Amino acid sequence: MIDFISKSREATDAGSERQAVRSLPFSRRSFLIKTSCFGAFYAVAKLIPLPALAAELAGDSRVSATPIVDKGFASVRQIGNGLYATISDPSKGNTTLCNGGFLVGRDAALLLEGFTTTVGAAFQMETLRTISQVPVKAAVDTHYHFDHSMGNAFYGANGVPLWAHATTAKRIVDSYSPMQGADKEAVLGPLEKRVRDAKSDVERAHAQSDLNAVTGLFQIANSSVLGLPNHPLDPAKLPISIDLGGLTAVLESYPGHSGTDIVVRVPDQKIVYTGDLLFSGWYPVCFDEKATISGWRDTLKKFASFDKDTLFVPGHGQICGQEGIASIREVFDDIAGQAEKMFKAGVPAEEAQHRYVVPDKFKNFPIFAWGFTIGPAFTKLYAEWQAGKT
Ligand SMILES: [Zn+2]
Repeated sequence: MIDFISKSREATDAGSERQAVRSLPFSRRSFLIKTSCFGAFYAVAKLIPLPALAAELAGDSRVSATPIVDKGFASVRQIGNGLYATISDPSKGNTTLCNGGFLVGRDAALLLEGFTTTVGAAFQMETLRTISQVPVKAAVDTHYHFDHSMGNAFYGANGVPLWAHATTAKRIVDSYSPMQGADKEAVLGPLEKRVRDAKSDVERAHAQSDLNAVTGLFQIANSSVLGLPNHPLDPAKLPISIDLGGLTAVLESYPGHSGTDIVVRVPDQKIVYTGDLLFSGWYPVCFDEKATISGWRDTLKKFASFDKDTLFVPGHGQICGQEGIASIREVFDDIAGQAEKMFKAGVPAEEAQHRYVVPDKFKNFPIFAWGFTIGPAFTKLYAEWQAGKT
């Protein structure tokens, strides 16, 4: 993503900008129609609505049978004593996109995530206020990605301290400010070229999924005012315990998804808010320059070692138990298994990633975009193997 943006910036000099405009594969009108078609953004997720809560979780005494509020784009459900989960359904809009939640003690509350929009962050805060009037101690961004941070300005406007991994603020600025005010065609041109130049229908579909994703990101970045965390959490000083009054949350840092990942655990109730270290029933998004496949698989192994009755609130997808951890580990095993065969056969990573076949058992798992999930997983696995770190 960073590479992509910096290349786009280079392309804004006059000559290459004209080139980008000339090389557009669609007329301006059909291009605009296309982009607005994908305005809902998660093109795949649009087709695959959020699954209902699994029967065994609906029977879990910690989890309320019905949500306390359901807005379509997200619903909020009690999942423990003073613990709530905000679960997004991206097939119904961009307001939140990611999951979040809040923790309510006797003395204070903690809000999780800035979501994609300030409206999303406000929705969660308003829902908290239907439950409790305790002061909000802080909001936490589990990591810097846009769908967890673009609504941060709501916290700034409402005097809510915003906590996050120490490098989150810098990564928000470095990743998203270059898109703001940038020429749209210069940003999207290289991706449109990839669609046009694709060597096969499969490669074209993959390139189109990347174009859809970046189109959505561009729209969101340009309709948001960036809000930055004002309370950096030094990972070397984690874990830390936060006492909310009869409810203790523990903030921990693990490698894997973004290099800025913070997990919020409530050990007394065996509940973990994982951020994007867990995609539940989704393919994992691995594109980040700080994402590490081996690190992420180790983190998931660690989650698998938590108590068998642990309830996980993932960054995306439905609330799950240990079966959700087992499932995402299987997805990683499958990606690594297919990649390894091609690595050993000498197939270059760039070609191999397009040959990955989604097994039947994962065919309903949304893929955010090929170049944000399978593609970088292959590239990173290849790099790890080439470095001899199998
Ligand atoms: Zn993420």
